[in-house]
Formats: sequence, structure tokens, C-alpha cells
Amino acid sequence: MAGTFDISLDSLAGRSVPAEDVSSECLSDSLQPIRKDRKAPKTAPCATGMRDGATFFLETFGCQMNDHDSEKVAGVLLSRGYRQVESPDAASLVLYNTCSIREKAAQKVFSRLGEYRTKQAAGQVIGVLGCVAQQEGEEIFARAPWVSLVCGSASYRKLPELLAQVEAGHQRVTGLNNDTDETFETPVTRRDNPWRAYLTIIEGCDKACAYCVVPFTRGPERSRASDSVLKEVRELADLGYSEVQLLGQTVNSYADPSSRRMRFSELLLAVADVPGMRRVRFTTSHPRDFGADIVAALESQPKLCNHVHLPVQSGSTKVLREMVRTYTRDEYLEKIAMLRKAKRPIAITTDIIVGFPGETEADFAETLSLLEEVQYDALFSFKYSPRPNTPSLSMPDAISEEEKSRRLAVLQETQREIQGKRNAGMINTMFEVLVSGKSRRENQWSGHTSCHRVINFTSQEQNLLGTYVQVLVTGAGPNSLAGEQVT
Ligand code: SAM
Ligand code: SF4
Repeated sequence: MAGTFDISLDSLAGRSVPAEDVSSECLSDSLQPIRKDRKAPKTAPCATGMRDGATFFLETFGCQMNDHDSEKVAGVLLSRGYRQVESPDAASLVLYNTCSIREKAAQKVFSRLGEYRTKQAAGQVIGVLGCVAQQEGEEIFARAPWVSLVCGSASYRKLPELLAQVEAGHQRVTGLNNDTDETFETPVTRRDNPWRAYLTIIEGCDKACAYCVVPFTRGPERSRASDSVLKEVRELADLGYSEVQLLGQTVNSYADPSSRRMRFSELLLAVADVPGMRRVRFTTSHPRDFGADIVAALESQPKLCNHVHLPVQSGSTKVLREMVRTYTRDEYLEKIAMLRKAKRPIAITTDIIVGFPGETEADFAETLSLLEEVQYDALFSFKYSPRPNTPSLSMPDAISEEEKSRRLAVLQETQREIQGKRNAGMINTMFEVLVSGKSRRENQWSGHTSCHRVINFTSQEQNLLGTYVQVLVTGAGPNSLAGEQVT
């Protein structure tokens, strides 16, 4: 990890990618440097006792939406009487919630399943959830016959009945119907973070980016009714959460299915109005649906965090057209100009793919020039990875792995310099920080600013976790800030 300080900036996109494919400049999610094969945290009581003695281990690969799906799956299991354990060896049910956005992510799942070849014989039940489950379907039973449950995210609502079949001893249980208008809502969600809560407001994706598996693995776009979203936000505030992050693959394409017909920007303001909520974030925004009303909402309500993640993917209009991103470089830059004109500074981060089929040196140079022009606060960068069923799979002029790696390195170095300068410009600035970490070193803490930077700071105070403090920035590296608490 580059930079003077040892904690990377936090981001919103929180994708789950093999570390070697990701920019060292990117901001990782959940207060962690890119580490997506998180194990279960220490937890958690059973609820109804339907399955006395049953235990589950749930490992999650992938984006924040997968993380949050896992929190809801854990809620379903707890309410069936399961107890969560921290090791697969101690579990009667071992579940993998998977990611297939890039090839290596999918490979990782099969290699993990290989490690559990002997578990079924030992009486353990193995299940595969999420994008790889949806993509590979029953093929998983052929490749890993010790698996008993395969369930894509669009079928999570059926989990209780699928689990009932698994509990009854069925060997090949599937939930693979992708054609749904339902969202996954649970009475119980077992959340990982005590201060910041995820809340999915729109599932699936109706865009058709030529490289992307999400529309195939997560099904069509379906939004959750605004009343139900707001009810959950009020419940979160009652539980003591002060920060909520609204999630969706294209969160700003939100379309309220209820008679209120709330626009996304109205929903943002309504969430921020819930007493007890202090910070509201949202990710990921699609540039096509990013309008002036969202910027106006950010300007009018300081509880809406001053950060927008707006993936561009390429700086070349020609490549954007091939990618079917539905905007040109200039149209994207108009959205950036809107954000830059806002009454308060708003951090902007993005995603970029290098080495898309047919991307020339000149196209890549346009991506580099876009970085210089926009001056992003951080970016996630990826080498193009050919994915099953996607239109780009059959596109000519594939770029060699070697060339993709070279472009990725150039891109990352360019961004590293930009980030270094932007962060250095923050020295002597005061930020409000939500404290989320305590270092082993005495008086050392860490947390996040509203603009989603990680800041490591000193304070003589005790018991700061979960509180908001004012921190003066005294140092900066490309990936984080350093400072001291001001009382
Ligand atoms: N919906 C978001 C958007 O439109 O920007 C992105 C969601 S996707 C899960 C996260 C990121 O993964 C994308 O922004 C893209 O940069 C990257 N990605 C998706 N498919 C990819 C592929 N086939 N190869 C490389 N990167 C990919
Ligand atoms: Fe994938 Fe494009 Fe949908 Fe994002 S908008 S999830 S990149 S298809």
C-alpha cells in the first residue's frame, strides 16, 4: 500500500476484487484494506430456537451489496435458531456468498469449495450463494458434488423454504429463478458494524454494460418502497446507528414502487431527516441517472455526506460507446462540472477498466487525461476481465494481459500522484470524524470524514469508538490523512 500512513482510505464502492487486480490507490471499504474474504465477526444470539444446536459459518466475497446480503442471510438463519460460528470446522452449515464480477473472483470460490470436499461426508452441509451460484447454477453440483444448496441473490426471499429442504436432508436444493420483481427484506438483519448500517434500496440492474455479469447474476432492477426504507432507517436510528449507506448497483436509478413515487433525491432528504441520523451515504451512482436534483439535495442537507462515487470506466467516448455506458466523455464531464459547482466541496471517486477490447493507446491516453481533468479523490481500477454471457466476450482486438498490466500500473501511478497532492492540500483543515478504530499504539485512533477519507489521529481521550470528534489534519499520504483531535 502506497503512502506514508498505513490505513487506506475508505470507499464506497467496496468491491470485492482480487487484490492484484485493484489499484493500490483505491479506497477500500469497511475500514479494511482490500480484503474481501472476510470471516464472520464474533456474534450472535439465536432467536427462535427452531434448530437447537445448528450452527452456520458464512464467508462473503464481493461488494458491499454482498456484504449486506450476508447480513440479511445471517438474520434469516439466526431467526431459524442457528448460531453463527467463526470457523467452518465448527459449523453444521457452511455458506459462501460469492462474487463473479471478474474471473479471478469466481475461481477463488471454486478453490475454496475444493477445500471443503470432505465436509459433506462429515455431516456438514455446504451451500453456495450469490453471483457465482446464479451464474454457474446446477453446474456447481457437477463440479463440487459435496455442495447441497445453490441460491442466487434474486431467490433469497425463498431462503427459509430452501433451508427447510436442506434441513430435511435434500441433497440438491436450488434457488435460481432470476425473473423476479421482489426485493429481499428480512425481519432480522445481523449487522457487522455497530455505527454504520448498509441498506439496499434497489436490487439488480437493467443497464447492459457490455462487460458486466451483474444483470445476469442479480436480475432486473427492483426498488424497495420508500415507506419500507424509511421505516428501517427509523429502526436503525432507534438502535443507535448514526450513519446509513444506501446501496444499489445503480442506486440513483431508484424508482419508488409505492404510490408516493419518491424520487431518489427526495428519498435522500427524507432519510437524512430521520431523527438520530447524522450521516447518509449512497453508492453506486450511474452517470446517466445523476441529475441536478441530487446535487441540490447535497447542497441543502449537510447530513448527506460530501462524497459521490461516479464510475466512468473509460475516458474515451469510443470505448464508452463500445462498453454501452450510455454517455460520452463530455456528458460525463458535465456531471462532474455540476458537482464541482456545488456550494460545498464534494469528493468524487470512480471506477476505471483498462484493456477493454479495442482500447488503443490513444483511448488509454484519454483516460489518463480524464484523471488529470477531474482530479479524483480516489479510484478503483481494474484490468478488463472477459465474463461469460457478456457481449464483450466476442469483441475483436483483445488486449494482452501484459499490456493490461502495464496500463493498470500507469493509471495507478497517475492517480497516486493526484491523490498525494489532493490529500496534501488538506493539511491544516479540520474534519468531523466518526471514530471507528483504535490502534494498538496508545492514543492512536482512526475514523472517517464525511468525504470518506480515513484519518489516523491522536487523542488523549478514552472511549471514542462510535463518537464524532473534530480532527485537525497534520499530515497526508496518497491513501490517508493523519491528524490530532481538537477539543
Ligand atoms: N453499477 C456500477 C456502475 O455502473 O458503475 C458498478 C458495479 S460493478 C459490480 C463494479 C465495478 O466492477 C464496475 O464499475 C467496473 O469497473 C468493474 N467491472 C465490472 N465488470 C468488469 C469486468 N468484466 N472486468 C473488469 N472490471 C469489471
Ligand atoms: Fe454492471 Fe453496468 Fe449494471 Fe454497473 S450499470 S452493474 S457496470 S451492467
